[in-house]
Amino acid sequence: MPNSYSAEIDYSCESCGRDTTVQTWLIIDAAEKPDLIEQVKNETLHKLDCPGCGEPIPLDPPLLLYFLGDEPRFLYASRQQDGTGFPEDMIQEIFDELVESSGDQELKDQYHHHQAWVLKEDLPDRLKDYPNKPLREFDWTAYPALKQCEMLMVDDYLQMVMTDYFGTPDWNQKELITEKAPLLLTPAIEPWLEAQEEAFQEMGNDQNLQIIRDHLEILTRAREVGYYEAVLEFQQKQEELN
Ligand SMILES: [Zn+2]
Repeated sequence: MPNSYSAEIDYSCESCGRDTTVQTWLIIDAAEKPDLIEQVKNETLHKLDCPGCGEPIPLDPPLLLYFLGDEPRFLYASRQQDGTGFPEDMIQEIFDELVESSGDQELKDQYHHHQAWVLKEDLPDRLKDYPNKPLREFDWTAYPALKQCEMLMVDDYLQMVMTDYFGTPDWNQKELITEKAPLLLTPAIEPWLEAQEEAFQEMGNDQNLQIIRDHLEILTRAREVGYYEAVLEFQQKQEELN
């Protein structure tokens, strides 16, 4: 069974009234359909015109691209062009479809791979050198602030930002990360950090639990007094305790 998958969608033209059925690709296995990957790269995949009057048909489905052997092995464009997210269950359903047809269990483990979730408009850039090079490295710091806040998968976005944030012991570097990722200084971080807190608690990992709690405190306080000041306050408090 092929992995690539398309759906037939009935479309009624608003301009001329003609009914037509359009084939819409939702999953593309790059090995099966290299020509369709080319169409993604030049942004023609979902560009269809009404056979009656030639007006463009507004098509904007989610798109899952599969690259066996690459890292990450899929890219998922999960937002519509106007910035609205597709319903999560719809996205999950398409993803499950690919896991089932490919039998690729590793794919399942990679569902939350932070580099795999992309905005549709970024697909051509990510695929620029494909297949000559692996999928281009994704640099979240290049994302403007607004785009960061618009990400559908806020959890996944936070995952990649937090990996950088906790990955550096350098406070200046951490501050720089909060500047590049303004989402860190919003309440959006709370559910994410609380989930980590819970996980470390279950594992009995007290050291990491404390680190998460400290940073939840610092980042929350930073919303009021700025990151630099919040860190100073925290360090003073630590000194007093010791
Ligand atoms: Zn028409």
